Amino acid sequence: MNKLYQKSPAFVQNALISIFNILAYKKRYGGKYAYFLKHFNKNKNLTLDELIKIQDNRFVSLIDYVKNKSPFYNEKYSDIPDISKVKDIAKLPIITKEELRRNIDKVYTIKKSKGIVSKTGGTTGKSLEVIFTPQNMQERFAMLDNFRNQFEYKLGKKTAWFSGKNLLTPKDLKRNRYWKTDYWYKVRYYSTFHIKGDYLKYYIEDLIKFKPQYFVGFSSTIYEIAKYGIDNKIDFPKGIVKAIFPTAETVNHSTRNLIESYFKTNLYDQYASSEGAPFIFECKNKNLHLEMQSGVFEVLDDNDLPAQQGRLVVTSFTTYGTPLIRYDIQDRVELSDERCTCGNNNPLIKQILGRIDDYIYSKETGKINLGNISNTLKDVKGIVKFQAIQESLESILIKIVIDNEVFSQKDEKQFLSNWRDRIGHSMKLDLEFVDDIPVEKSGKFRMVKNNIKHLIT
Ligand SMILES: [Zn+2]
Repeated sequence: MNKLYQKSPAFVQNALISIFNILAYKKRYGGKYAYFLKHFNKNKNLTLDELIKIQDNRFVSLIDYVKNKSPFYNEKYSDIPDISKVKDIAKLPIITKEELRRNIDKVYTIKKSKGIVSKTGGTTGKSLEVIFTPQNMQERFAMLDNFRNQFEYKLGKKTAWFSGKNLLTPKDLKRNRYWKTDYWYKVRYYSTFHIKGDYLKYYIEDLIKFKPQYFVGFSSTIYEIAKYGIDNKIDFPKGIVKAIFPTAETVNHSTRNLIESYFKTNLYDQYASSEGAPFIFECKNKNLHLEMQSGVFEVLDDNDLPAQQGRLVVTSFTTYGTPLIRYDIQDRVELSDERCTCGNNNPLIKQILGRIDDYIYSKETGKINLGNISNTLKDVKGIVKFQAIQESLESILIKIVIDNEVFSQKDEKQFLSNWRDRIGHSMKLDLEFVDDIPVEKSGKFRMVKNNIKHLIT
């Protein structure tokens, strides 16, 4: 597929993307998708008591299921007395990302061939493969679409997508064409690998021409485009964009303000993760709701006790293929005591403090955000973790810890090629194999250390 794609003319490439999407969407929007979409739409105004009841029932059946089907949990829970409601959750052990990764083959409850595999880079730089049952995947997309539908979004409406896929060829770059289009679903995929001053003019010109009603994707990319537009006094017409739905990155206050004011629209945030965490959705009142029908959220302090602000530990109702129960997802949130008047009675959080706002800079391609950096692990096996360190504009050092039994020459080549897709070919790129990469003083692992931010305007 990839070779054929690279050699084809642009219109064939666009058609191939449509075909690929039609196949992928069949899995997402087939089966019980329509049932779930209706179900969650009907449930949007449940009372808190009704939500608690649903959450209790789903939690108990999940625990029963994993005890029978997942060797990992079966072993873990062998000494644990009966679990009859969510309140019993503290009896269960917390699972770290590292523990899940190490035992992943025993965690799975279905075979890869029976499910949908989602490869996740994860912001800590460790690769993980999660298998979703098709039905869980359909349920997740129904929940997500139910959130977007509040703002009249529908698949097939013109959408600008800012994703981590590199779909461009050298010819596209020569022509200053930083996007590919799926004309079937009316989605234009803008590259997030070419976010650099001189190029951004073409992005804005094309967005104005294409007139997408919705933006979906990396907020850091959308932010850079907006900032360029403001700095260069390029007006973005009012009334084009109905809503912006960021994915994968935490949106801070100033990023949000700048994006909303430049594109003259509203941004509605959502939180999930590629491993299948339960959802947090922003409502029309701009409050973040913890969707209790999608899982259990715990906010814990360093002693694993409930806290107002702390680590988010999640239990997901939509990952039966790779169960996540009391999973420490390495994000931080702050709870809120307020109630919302939008009709949704799910509890609120004040903010997602989570993932660190960091990037690598290339003179050739501009800023490479954390999402794109973690995706350099795609199709690479045997890298336990890595850290990209930038001390100059001309070079990057990547420290990597490998699993000697798995890591091969092929993996090294793929990893370097993934990096080149993102940073271009003029920068110096060095790999340093190390035994371990220490965490920061804060206890957090940083995948990116950018020490030249002061050189970038
Ligand atoms: Zn609300």
